[in-house]
Amino acid sequence: MHKIEHIGIAVQDLEEAEERWKKLLNTLSYKRETVESEGVITSFFKIGESKIELLAPTRPDSPIQKFLDKKGEGIHHIAFDVNDIEVKMKILAQQGFILINDQPKKGADKKKVAFLHPKSTGGVLIELCQDL
Ligand code: ZN
Repeated sequence: MHKIEHIGIAVQDLEEAEERWKKLLNTLSYKRETVESEGVITSFFKIGESKIELLAPTRPDSPIQKFLDKKGEGIHHIAFDVNDIEVKMKILAQQGFILINDQPKKGADKKKVAFLHPKSTGGVLIELCQDL
């Protein structure tokens, strides 16, 4: 892992959150993308090398909606940029981390992604991501 690629933030209302983050960062969201398989619409801000990914649910059974119901709005995950996601997943699994998916999935922002379960990371949902 060589850098934090982005921080994912769960929001209920994407428009409202975009307004807030626009003011906070003094920059506009540069893209929105829906990942229908995950029931999520994302909006990305870039600040220097780092990105903020806002995540809002697109349907009631979305995992993001479940997160919001349980924990409310706030930091959802931290994403690290990796070079060889399959190898990294194997190493982390051998070290005792629990992978949510055994194979990388197609995520937003032209990435292959995989998640580590928060119960194996002290409560932090970790995303590994690699450019496609
Ligand atoms: Zn993410």
